[in-house]
Amino acid sequence: MKNISILGATGSIGRNTLDLISRDVDQFKVVGLTGANNIQLLAESAIKFNADVVATADESRFHDLKEMLSGYRVEVCAGLNGLLEVASRQAEWVMSSIVGSAGLLPGLKALEAGANLALANKESMVAAGPIMKRLSEVQGVKLIPVDSEHSAISQVIRGEERESLSKIIITASGGAFRNLTASELIDVTPDQASTHPTWNMGQRITIDSASLFNKALEVIEAKEFFGLKSSEIEVLIHPQSLVHAIACFYDGGMKAHIGPSDMRHAIAYALYEEKRYNLPLQEVDLCKVGTLDFEKPDLLKYPALKLGFDVLEHGGLAGAAFNAAKEEALDNFIDHKLSFLGMADVVRATMDELSSKNELSYEVELDAVMEIDMRARSVAKMFVDKF
Ligand code: NAD
Ligand code: MG
Repeated sequence: MKNISILGATGSIGRNTLDLISRDVDQFKVVGLTGANNIQLLAESAIKFNADVVATADESRFHDLKEMLSGYRVEVCAGLNGLLEVASRQAEWVMSSIVGSAGLLPGLKALEAGANLALANKESMVAAGPIMKRLSEVQGVKLIPVDSEHSAISQVIRGEERESLSKIIITASGGAFRNLTASELIDVTPDQASTHPTWNMGQRITIDSASLFNKALEVIEAKEFFGLKSSEIEVLIHPQSLVHAIACFYDGGMKAHIGPSDMRHAIAYALYEEKRYNLPLQEVDLCKVGTLDFEKPDLLKYPALKLGFDVLEHGGLAGAAFNAAKEEALDNFIDHKLSFLGMADVVRATMDELSSKNELSYEVELDAVMEIDMRARSVAKMFVDKF
């Protein structure tokens, strides 16, 4: 039996992970689960999977959660310390699926405690990739990609020599507004941005998919996971969301990964350590699909993508600042205080400001990451009023 924990168990990735576990209960022991506001689901999952410990990020919900679990042998904690407590419990495999930079410290704690970390939380790799990689090396544990594109990359380069790889293509669906022009994006609302044509995901990543901020994060994530330079990464719009990544080799050969638009495919590949498991997923019917389309993204319409590539060129703390500024801009868009295209304006202005003051060129150490995260949020907040 494998001991596992899920950080962010009540979200889209967390629920999909529990779904897989519920189909193979003899193989897994659930140690810890965390959530935030949805304590009802957290409590139900703790009972169903017989977890040892649960934590809600929201301290004010501690007593309610405790009451829901009274009579059960489940330890209850809350707040950041609660999340860290769950992450520090002995587990062989931990799913990092909290959304946003809030996933960084719990993910690091799980690595410190000696767990292999399945990383859905791309933000921690974007903000602190070098720290995550150093720690996993020191601890002798694995950092496993869960993002569908990065899982796909790991599948297509498996068995290949690094020197033979010329380029990686990752795909983007184009999100909710794929068929709109740049000028039609001026008045779009958070509700409109929160529907995804091909994937079913949490609200924040769904909006990031419409702006391609998600793809910008994934470009940085690809660099960190696979040691790629910006010239070795290309993004193509692929509306069918069936080809997730393509490896291009110097001999002209290309290997594409085709899989269903269902995160359980990538989660299972991480959960079963690269073994193929018989999943309840419908096989892609290529004849029914008929055509696979690819096109270059229009950078006027998707300015966020260019900003992601700029981060690769900059290095240092640029990833941490970019992610924090993006989170601040996204909060303001969701609160109707910033327009859809204004998000990229705010992030660009924030990056320019920090870079002009030479604040991004430091080593990626945890204190520096936390500091630039706060600083980028406050600079971005200031620019929100201007755009
Ligand atoms: P979600 O919003 O559905 O779930 C987020 C989880 O994080 C929930 O359990 C929530 O309770 C918890 N959470 C929220 N705020 C928190 C905080 N401040 N502190 C602690 N916990 C908090 O998000 P999701 O779609 O499952 O995405 C999770 C992560 O996985 C993100 O980093 C996302 O980019 C990545 N990801 C998601 C998908 C997908 O299909 N949903 C695909 C690839 C990558
Ligand atoms: Mg992805």
